[in-house]
Amino acid sequence: MGKIVAIVGRPNVGKSTLFNRLTGSRQAIVDDVSGVTRDRHYGKSEWNGKTFTIIDTGGFVPNSADIFEHEIANQVKIAIEESDILVFMVDVSTGITDLDKASANLLRRSKKPVLVVVNKVDNSERQFEAAEFYGLGFEEVFNVSSMSGSGTGELLDRITEFLPDDEEYILEDDNRDYEESDEESEERISRTKNILPKVAVVGRPNVGKSSFVNALLGYQRNIVTEIAGTTRDAIHTEYNAYGHHFVLVDTAGIRKKAKVKEDIEFYSVMRSVRSLEDCDVAILMIDATLGIDSQDMNLVHLAIRNGKGLVILVNKWDLVEKDTKTALEFEKIIKEKLQPFDDVPILFISALEKQRIFKAVELAMKVIENKKRRIPTHKLNDVILPFIEHYPPPAIKGKYVRIKFIMQLPGSNPKFAFFCNLPQYVNESYKRYLENKIRESFDFHGVPIVIYMRKK
Ligand code: GDP
Ligand code: GDP
Repeated sequence: MGKIVAIVGRPNVGKSTLFNRLTGSRQAIVDDVSGVTRDRHYGKSEWNGKTFTIIDTGGFVPNSADIFEHEIANQVKIAIEESDILVFMVDVSTGITDLDKASANLLRRSKKPVLVVVNKVDNSERQFEAAEFYGLGFEEVFNVSSMSGSGTGELLDRITEFLPDDEEYILEDDNRDYEESDEESEERISRTKNILPKVAVVGRPNVGKSSFVNALLGYQRNIVTEIAGTTRDAIHTEYNAYGHHFVLVDTAGIRKKAKVKEDIEFYSVMRSVRSLEDCDVAILMIDATLGIDSQDMNLVHLAIRNGKGLVILVNKWDLVEKDTKTALEFEKIIKEKLQPFDDVPILFISALEKQRIFKAVELAMKVIENKKRRIPTHKLNDVILPFIEHYPPPAIKGKYVRIKFIMQLPGSNPKFAFFCNLPQYVNESYKRYLENKIRESFDFHGVPIVIYMRKK
C-alpha cells in the first residue's frame, strides 16, 4: 500500500479548503469565482507520525457551474488508478447531485478504500441532513467542516490506519542513541548494494521525458527487461549499460499520453508524485524554452520532503540561441529559485539530438553515491567542530549554546545530529550555516540533508 491520498468530488464542495487544512498551507487558492487559476494541487501531510501525499484533484477541473459529467468522470478514473486512498467529497448544503451519483458509480467499482466526506457540516442540524449520503452506498461516511476543521481529526485517524509505517520517522526530541559503528554502517551499505537504485524522470508534460527515456533505452533495446510494478501499468525498466545498472521507475507512465488538456496535466502530476515516492533519485526535466515554473518547484519540494536525490536537466537546449554565458546565466536563475537547497547538479541537454544523455545518467548515479555517503564520526567532528568554534551559535537571552558532538544518523539519506546543551535555542539560519559547512566539506551534491539539534 502506497501513501497517496486523492480528494475527488465536483467543484465547490470544498476540496481545496480541506486540502489547505490537511497540508497546513494557504497556497492552494480557494475562490468562488470561476476560472481562478489554482496552482498547488498536492502537498504533504502528517498525522499520528505517518506522512502521506495528498492530492487536490479540484485544481484540474474547470471551476465552472456547467461542468460536464464526463470531465469529472475522467478525473475520477485517473484518481482511482493512480492513488491509494480516495476521499470522495460531497456537500451537505446541496445534498446528493447527479454528478455525485456518477462519481459514486465509478468509485464503487474501485478496489481501493473510499472514504465519503460530507463537507460543510458546520452545525448539528446539518449532522442530521448529512445522513442522506449513506444512500450513496459506501460504508464509511465522515461528517466534516473543512472551514472550521471539525471532524477532520477522525478522518485523518482513519486515513492513517490504511497507511504503512514511515520508514524512518525520527522525532525531533527523540533521544535514543543512534550511534552506528563503522562496521554496522559498512554492513548496511553492502546490504543495499545488491538493490538496484531507482531513478524517476519527472516534469511537466512535453518537456521531453519520453524522448529522454527513449534515447536512453534506444542504445540497448535488446537488453531491456520490463519489471511489472505495483499498479496495473506502472512498468519499471531495468537499465544496464556502460557500467551503470539501475531501474527506471514507471516508464509506461512516461510514454502514455492522455488526450484532454486538463487530464494531461492531472495525469502527469499524479504520475510524477507516484514515481517520486518510489525513487532514490529524481531527474527533473525542464524545458529550456520555458524555464522553471511553480509546478517544477512543487516537484523539487516534494523530492526534498521525501529525502530523494535530485538532478535537474534543462532539455531542448538545441532550441536556445546561446553564447558562452547563456548556460551560466540560466543556471544562476534556477539556483536562485532553489534557495536554500541549491547544491543540485544542473545539466543542459538535448534529448532530440542525444546530447549529454549519458552525462545525465552519470550525474544521477553520482547523486545516489552521495546519498549513501556516511561520514565517520571522528572525521565529522574533526572537520565541523572547528567551524562551530570559529562561528558559534548566537547567544539568545544571555544563554550560550554549546555544541559538543556531531553524529550522522543511520538511514537511507543523510541526517546529522548536533548534540548540545540548549537545542531549542538554535535558529534556522544557524542550522543552514551548519548544513553549508557540511556541504563544503563533504560531497552531498544533489542530496537533501536533515539537521537535528539534540540534547546531550
Ligand atoms: P473545491 O472547488 O471543491 O475545491 O471547493 P473550495 O475549497 O474552493 O470551496 C468552495 C466554497 O465552499 C468556498 O466558498 C469555501 O469557502 C466553501 N467551504 C469550504 N468548506 C466549507 C465548510 O466546511 N463549510 C462551509 N460553510 N463552507 C465551506
Ligand atoms: P514528455 O511529455 O515530457 O514525455 O515529452 P516528449 O518526450 O513527448 O516531448 C515533447 C515534444 O518535445 C516532442 O515533440 C519532442 O520531439 C520534443 N522534444 C523532446 N526533447 C527535445 C529536445 O531536446 N529538443 C527539441 N527541439 N525538441 C525536443
